[in-house]
Amino acid sequence: LQHSQKFVYDFTEGNRDLKDLLGGKGANLAEMTNLGLPVPPGFTITTEACKVYLDSGEEPAALRDEVSAHLDALEQKMGKKLGQADDPLLVSVRSGAKFSMPGMMDTVLNIGLSDASVTGLAKQSGDERFAWDSYRRLIQMFGKTVLGVDGELFEDALDEAKAAKKVTVDTDLDAADLKKLVKHFKKVVKTEAGRDFPQDPREQMDLAVKAVFDSWNGDRAKLYRRQERIPGDLGTAVNICSMVFGNLGPDSGTGVAFTRDPASGHQGVYGDYLQNAQGEDVVAGIRNTVPLAELEGIDKKSYDQLMQIMETLETHYKDLCDIEFTIERGQLWMLQTRVGKRTAGAAFRIATQLVDQGLIDEAEALQRVNGAQLAQLMFPRFDDQAKVEQLGRGIAASPGAAVGKAVFDSYTAIKWSRSGEKVILIRRETNPDDLDGMIAAEGILTSRGGKTSHAAVVARGMGKTCVCGAEDLEVDTKRRRMTAPGGVVIEEGDVVSIDGSTGKVYLGEVPVVPSPVVEYFEGRMHAGADDADELVAAVHRIMAYADRVRRLRVRANADNAEDALRARRFGAQGIGLCRTEHMFLGERREMVERLILADTDEERETALSALLPLQKKDFVELFEAMDGLPVTVRLLDPPLHEFLPDITELSVRVALAESRKDANENDLRLLQAVHKLHEQNPMLGLRGVRLGLVIPGLFAMQVRAIAEAAAERRNAKGDPRAEIMIPLVGTVQELEIVREEADQVIAEVEAATGTDLKLTIGTMIELPRAALTAGQIAEAAQFFSFGTNDLTQTVWGFSRDDVEASFFTAYLEKGIFGVSPFETIDKDGVGSLVRSAVQAGRATRPDLKLGVCGEHGGDPESVHFFHEVGLDYVSCSPFRIPVARLEAGRAAA
Ligand code: PEP
Ligand code: MG
Repeated sequence: LQHSQKFVYDFTEGNRDLKDLLGGKGANLAEMTNLGLPVPPGFTITTEACKVYLDSGEEPAALRDEVSAHLDALEQKMGKKLGQADDPLLVSVRSGAKFSMPGMMDTVLNIGLSDASVTGLAKQSGDERFAWDSYRRLIQMFGKTVLGVDGELFEDALDEAKAAKKVTVDTDLDAADLKKLVKHFKKVVKTEAGRDFPQDPREQMDLAVKAVFDSWNGDRAKLYRRQERIPGDLGTAVNICSMVFGNLGPDSGTGVAFTRDPASGHQGVYGDYLQNAQGEDVVAGIRNTVPLAELEGIDKKSYDQLMQIMETLETHYKDLCDIEFTIERGQLWMLQTRVGKRTAGAAFRIATQLVDQGLIDEAEALQRVNGAQLAQLMFPRFDDQAKVEQLGRGIAASPGAAVGKAVFDSYTAIKWSRSGEKVILIRRETNPDDLDGMIAAEGILTSRGGKTSHAAVVARGMGKTCVCGAEDLEVDTKRRRMTAPGGVVIEEGDVVSIDGSTGKVYLGEVPVVPSPVVEYFEGRMHAGADDADELVAAVHRIMAYADRVRRLRVRANADNAEDALRARRFGAQGIGLCRTEHMFLGERREMVERLILADTDEERETALSALLPLQKKDFVELFEAMDGLPVTVRLLDPPLHEFLPDITELSVRVALAESRKDANENDLRLLQAVHKLHEQNPMLGLRGVRLGLVIPGLFAMQVRAIAEAAAERRNAKGDPRAEIMIPLVGTVQELEIVREEADQVIAEVEAATGTDLKLTIGTMIELPRAALTAGQIAEAAQFFSFGTNDLTQTVWGFSRDDVEASFFTAYLEKGIFGVSPFETIDKDGVGSLVRSAVQAGRATRPDLKLGVCGEHGGDPESVHFFHEVGLDYVSCSPFRIPVARLEAGRAAA
């Protein structure tokens, strides 16, 4: 196979679509060459060659000859040979991977200089100082990156040379000084690397190529790839390009340019220029650059040519491009271009500007933005100019920027917020009891738990900022304080700031900037003239494109009217998951407690009838808020012990009371119940449909509340569209039993109210067995909603409340997965079960409605997967709805 493979491409042979093979830089150099733009000639060694080298430790056998052939061609084109003594061809050797990894890999310039050719270069350029300075740079870069010499040794020598001459800038060293420095540098190489600096130009080049290959696996590069989720096996290409010099005097220089402003998207002249310098000087900030516009006054001809090239590039790439260029004695050269990075806001603006300019169509505009950028625009954020003191860092669980006084229990959170204080609720972890405290707080910080811990899921649901699992922060709820690693102690009432987008926790108040995009979705802002409104107008248009083309409908996970209304404003087309357990908290908890403690049918019925009107009222409000749109109500899911006091606390209380001989009857019964319901693995215990099957009347009460609420809305001329959903079903028999009871209750309510409620009954698919027997289950279900949280938990055998904080970091570091499967659907495992369940379900019941309501419903990558497997809708927290709409549109466009 290797024999037929081509490992080297001349710039004239490639094009921009070959990024996999030539890397981003190489592909674009080729594209520019073929556009007829002034690119210094050169060639690219492919990523395939790099991969062979990384896999086997040896370059492919054919590489050397191929490089020789391309080098010959280059030398012929340039009319001089690499390192030729009287007039040397010099080349740069630069890395260039498929995805840009700025500064992460190696580059060596001025390859081809040697003791012999440096004088040739001096003669040819007529500038002795320039030649020796170039040689000095080569030894320095080569020594450091190729031979592994400590770079500081060269820096120190340079500083010494300047100090000896009592000057401060490099340019004050003359040719004689630099000659001496070269001698010194060569000595450094010899002692440190144990070999002489190679005088053979071809050897220089070959070693530099190898060093670039090796730099793919350097620590910096690996870390960067992990952060940016760039696969580790792509390898880098190597570009060998004839050198042009920006440091040949005042008619030379180097610069960077953007075809439009990467921050605002506005057209104009954006960039920087540095006269008489090489690219590396700009990066190093050695001298101050001038705005690109000033180039017009310095070198009008080059400036005009550059403007023209920028226009050519933008029209050609149909996007914002960034450019690196060099001017050598009045001759402009393009060294690099690529589609430029931009801020999230600029991405939206630029996409619509390009549509207006007729460069791209609406479908393409959708591909120019993404859900992550939209999400970024939706959260208030900390002012990045602010001075901060970081206390610690946890998992970025629910984005946003929250500031408030530290409180360590929900009671205080509620009390303080009622008196107008902003608070951050800090807990080791949260439980359903903390819900009111979480609602009262600006943000939530926990020291334990991962992205699907209670705190994280609930906070995301509410669109509330949350940092969880900040394990370096020691939370002591008893003493009401938190200790940071440096020993800083945060007492109750001290102000802290938490960033749910980065997971960072700060001491004191960091200033926050609100999001105009949310103001827009909330209906509080419309298109207008100032800067924020321009962004809003762009978002508005892009969302309209997405809505027009998407096939997936988008629903909300919402449990109350307020969330439902917000979800509607954000574009929700119904509710895909109403978790009824959230309606059993707070003051109602005691009623649930009574239900659990009931020993007789009578006691149980009393407890249930007390809950019925409250449930019904909840549903009436919800159906009203979502009038005309489907509302999927899920019957009670979590294990009952979640509604009871903590076993340890209660045991202690009862033991203390007993020792005082004043134990109360209710506490004793409660403790008994707590013991009875205690489970080693509650997540796999008595929950979901199992509860409905063993607690007589529980599901019937909920179904009645739904049916009566729907009847009431119907009689009030509303249009309720309730769907009843049974959780944690593993077999069709469970569903059949529950359905029988539910159908009977519904029939009773319909008869009593004289309505036809058109209620549908379906199930969640959140256990492997349910997915595997989906064909059977569909016989008893009118719809499926994939509960991918539990499905991920049970398919992987990962406890969703524990694993992210315990070993996921190690898994991510080892590359076992690039992102938590609780965040992005695991397509190969969990996803394949979803896919087959979709097919089996539809085979049984062609009109089966299919959705997903796990956290993945609002994750961009997962939304594409759900589109592809043919679901009808995704359901996600209200704040994720615009993101899901956008991604559903991108998936369909
Ligand atoms: C799920 O399991 O995916 C789901 C939506 O249910 P919950 O998160 O409430 O268990
Ligand atoms: Mg579930």
